[in-house]
Amino acid sequence: MTDLYRMLPEEMEDLVLELGQPRFRADQILYALYYKFPKDLSEIKQLPLEFREKLTEKGFTIGSTKEAHRVESEDGETTKLLLNLNDETPVESVLMQYKSKKMFGHPRSTICVSTQVGCAMGCVFCATGQMGFERNMKAEEIVGQVIHFAKILLEKGQHVTNIVFMGMGEPLANYSETIRAIQLLTHPRGFGIGQRHITVSTIGIVSAIEKLADEKMQIGLAISLHAPNDKLRQRLVPTAGPDSVKELIKSGKNYFLTTGRRVTFEYALIEGVNDMPEIAEELALLLKDNGSHINLIPLNPTAGDFNRPARKNVIEFERILYNGGINCTVRVEKGTEISAACGQLRTDILEKYNNTIN
Ligand code: SAH
Ligand code: SF4
Repeated sequence: MTDLYRMLPEEMEDLVLELGQPRFRADQILYALYYKFPKDLSEIKQLPLEFREKLTEKGFTIGSTKEAHRVESEDGETTKLLLNLNDETPVESVLMQYKSKKMFGHPRSTICVSTQVGCAMGCVFCATGQMGFERNMKAEEIVGQVIHFAKILLEKGQHVTNIVFMGMGEPLANYSETIRAIQLLTHPRGFGIGQRHITVSTIGIVSAIEKLADEKMQIGLAISLHAPNDKLRQRLVPTAGPDSVKELIKSGKNYFLTTGRRVTFEYALIEGVNDMPEIAEELALLLKDNGSHINLIPLNPTAGDFNRPARKNVIEFERILYNGGINCTVRVEKGTEISAACGQLRTDILEKYNNTIN
């Protein structure tokens, strides 16, 4: 079985030619896949029936995600889906909408996709990390999450404006499928979103960040730092090496020099663990003159015995960074009541249904 959403436009052309069809059939399929979002081959009516039958006979299918559960936040701005993959594995994806005056009333619609089922990195505060690693996701399964939301948005006359690889899993630990998904999503004859509208978030696999820089794409990179020193970082990110903080600062710089895109450092703020004023000062010194941006994410308490800091502590942390000359933002709270943090919905639902969803 091959999902047509896996195939890059050039591969689609090779396929139709191989099956004795004219080249333009590839464009007919691509147009249907990325503008009409068909459920199956029978919905691509432009194709002759016998060609559709041939594709089915050869094992080609469309789509690898089925909606298992949907929750919307009270303000309607966050929608979280639990999607079942073809092997019935549930994964989660989130749509976050922000109203923007600049876009003439059209909301910014950001899709957060998962790249792995579970995660092997074991970050102690992360629900996905605590469930362990199940498997890598295929490019078509990553793209399928975007398509699922694109179809929902199309029905409202809206469209996907941004994609962030910040759902379940570590995208750079599933490198080749992540890159293929980005190619499919950004190809002008594929989904066609601009590279600058995609951000990949990584826990910081240094060799993979270097490889990514060498791809010379214009995608944004976010590195999850969480601590200004290795002792603290290793406590939060057990897979981090003994010198990871310095290495990550260096690879962030290299990413900027190679691609021209500034890196964002992410920092989950955890009460009494990494939110103290002296830690903020250490972080400001570390990032001084680095030109990077830091995004503070007040913890969504999910795993372990960790809490979100009080608002005044978050503001104080931000103030210290700001006074230290660091470009800093605090992530806007979105969808907390619907478990919109990484890996949380799946955990909640699996608990509720006593694992019957698997
Ligand atoms: N594996 C990648 C991408 C997925 S996690 C990474 O770690 O970067 C995306 C972001 O969500 C990361 O910055 C991660 O630290 C953060 N995150 C995970 N669990 C969280 C929680 N409970 N509260 C707040 N942020 C969390
Ligand atoms: Fe994996 Fe990212 Fe969660 Fe760490 S924070 S366990 S790398 S998904």
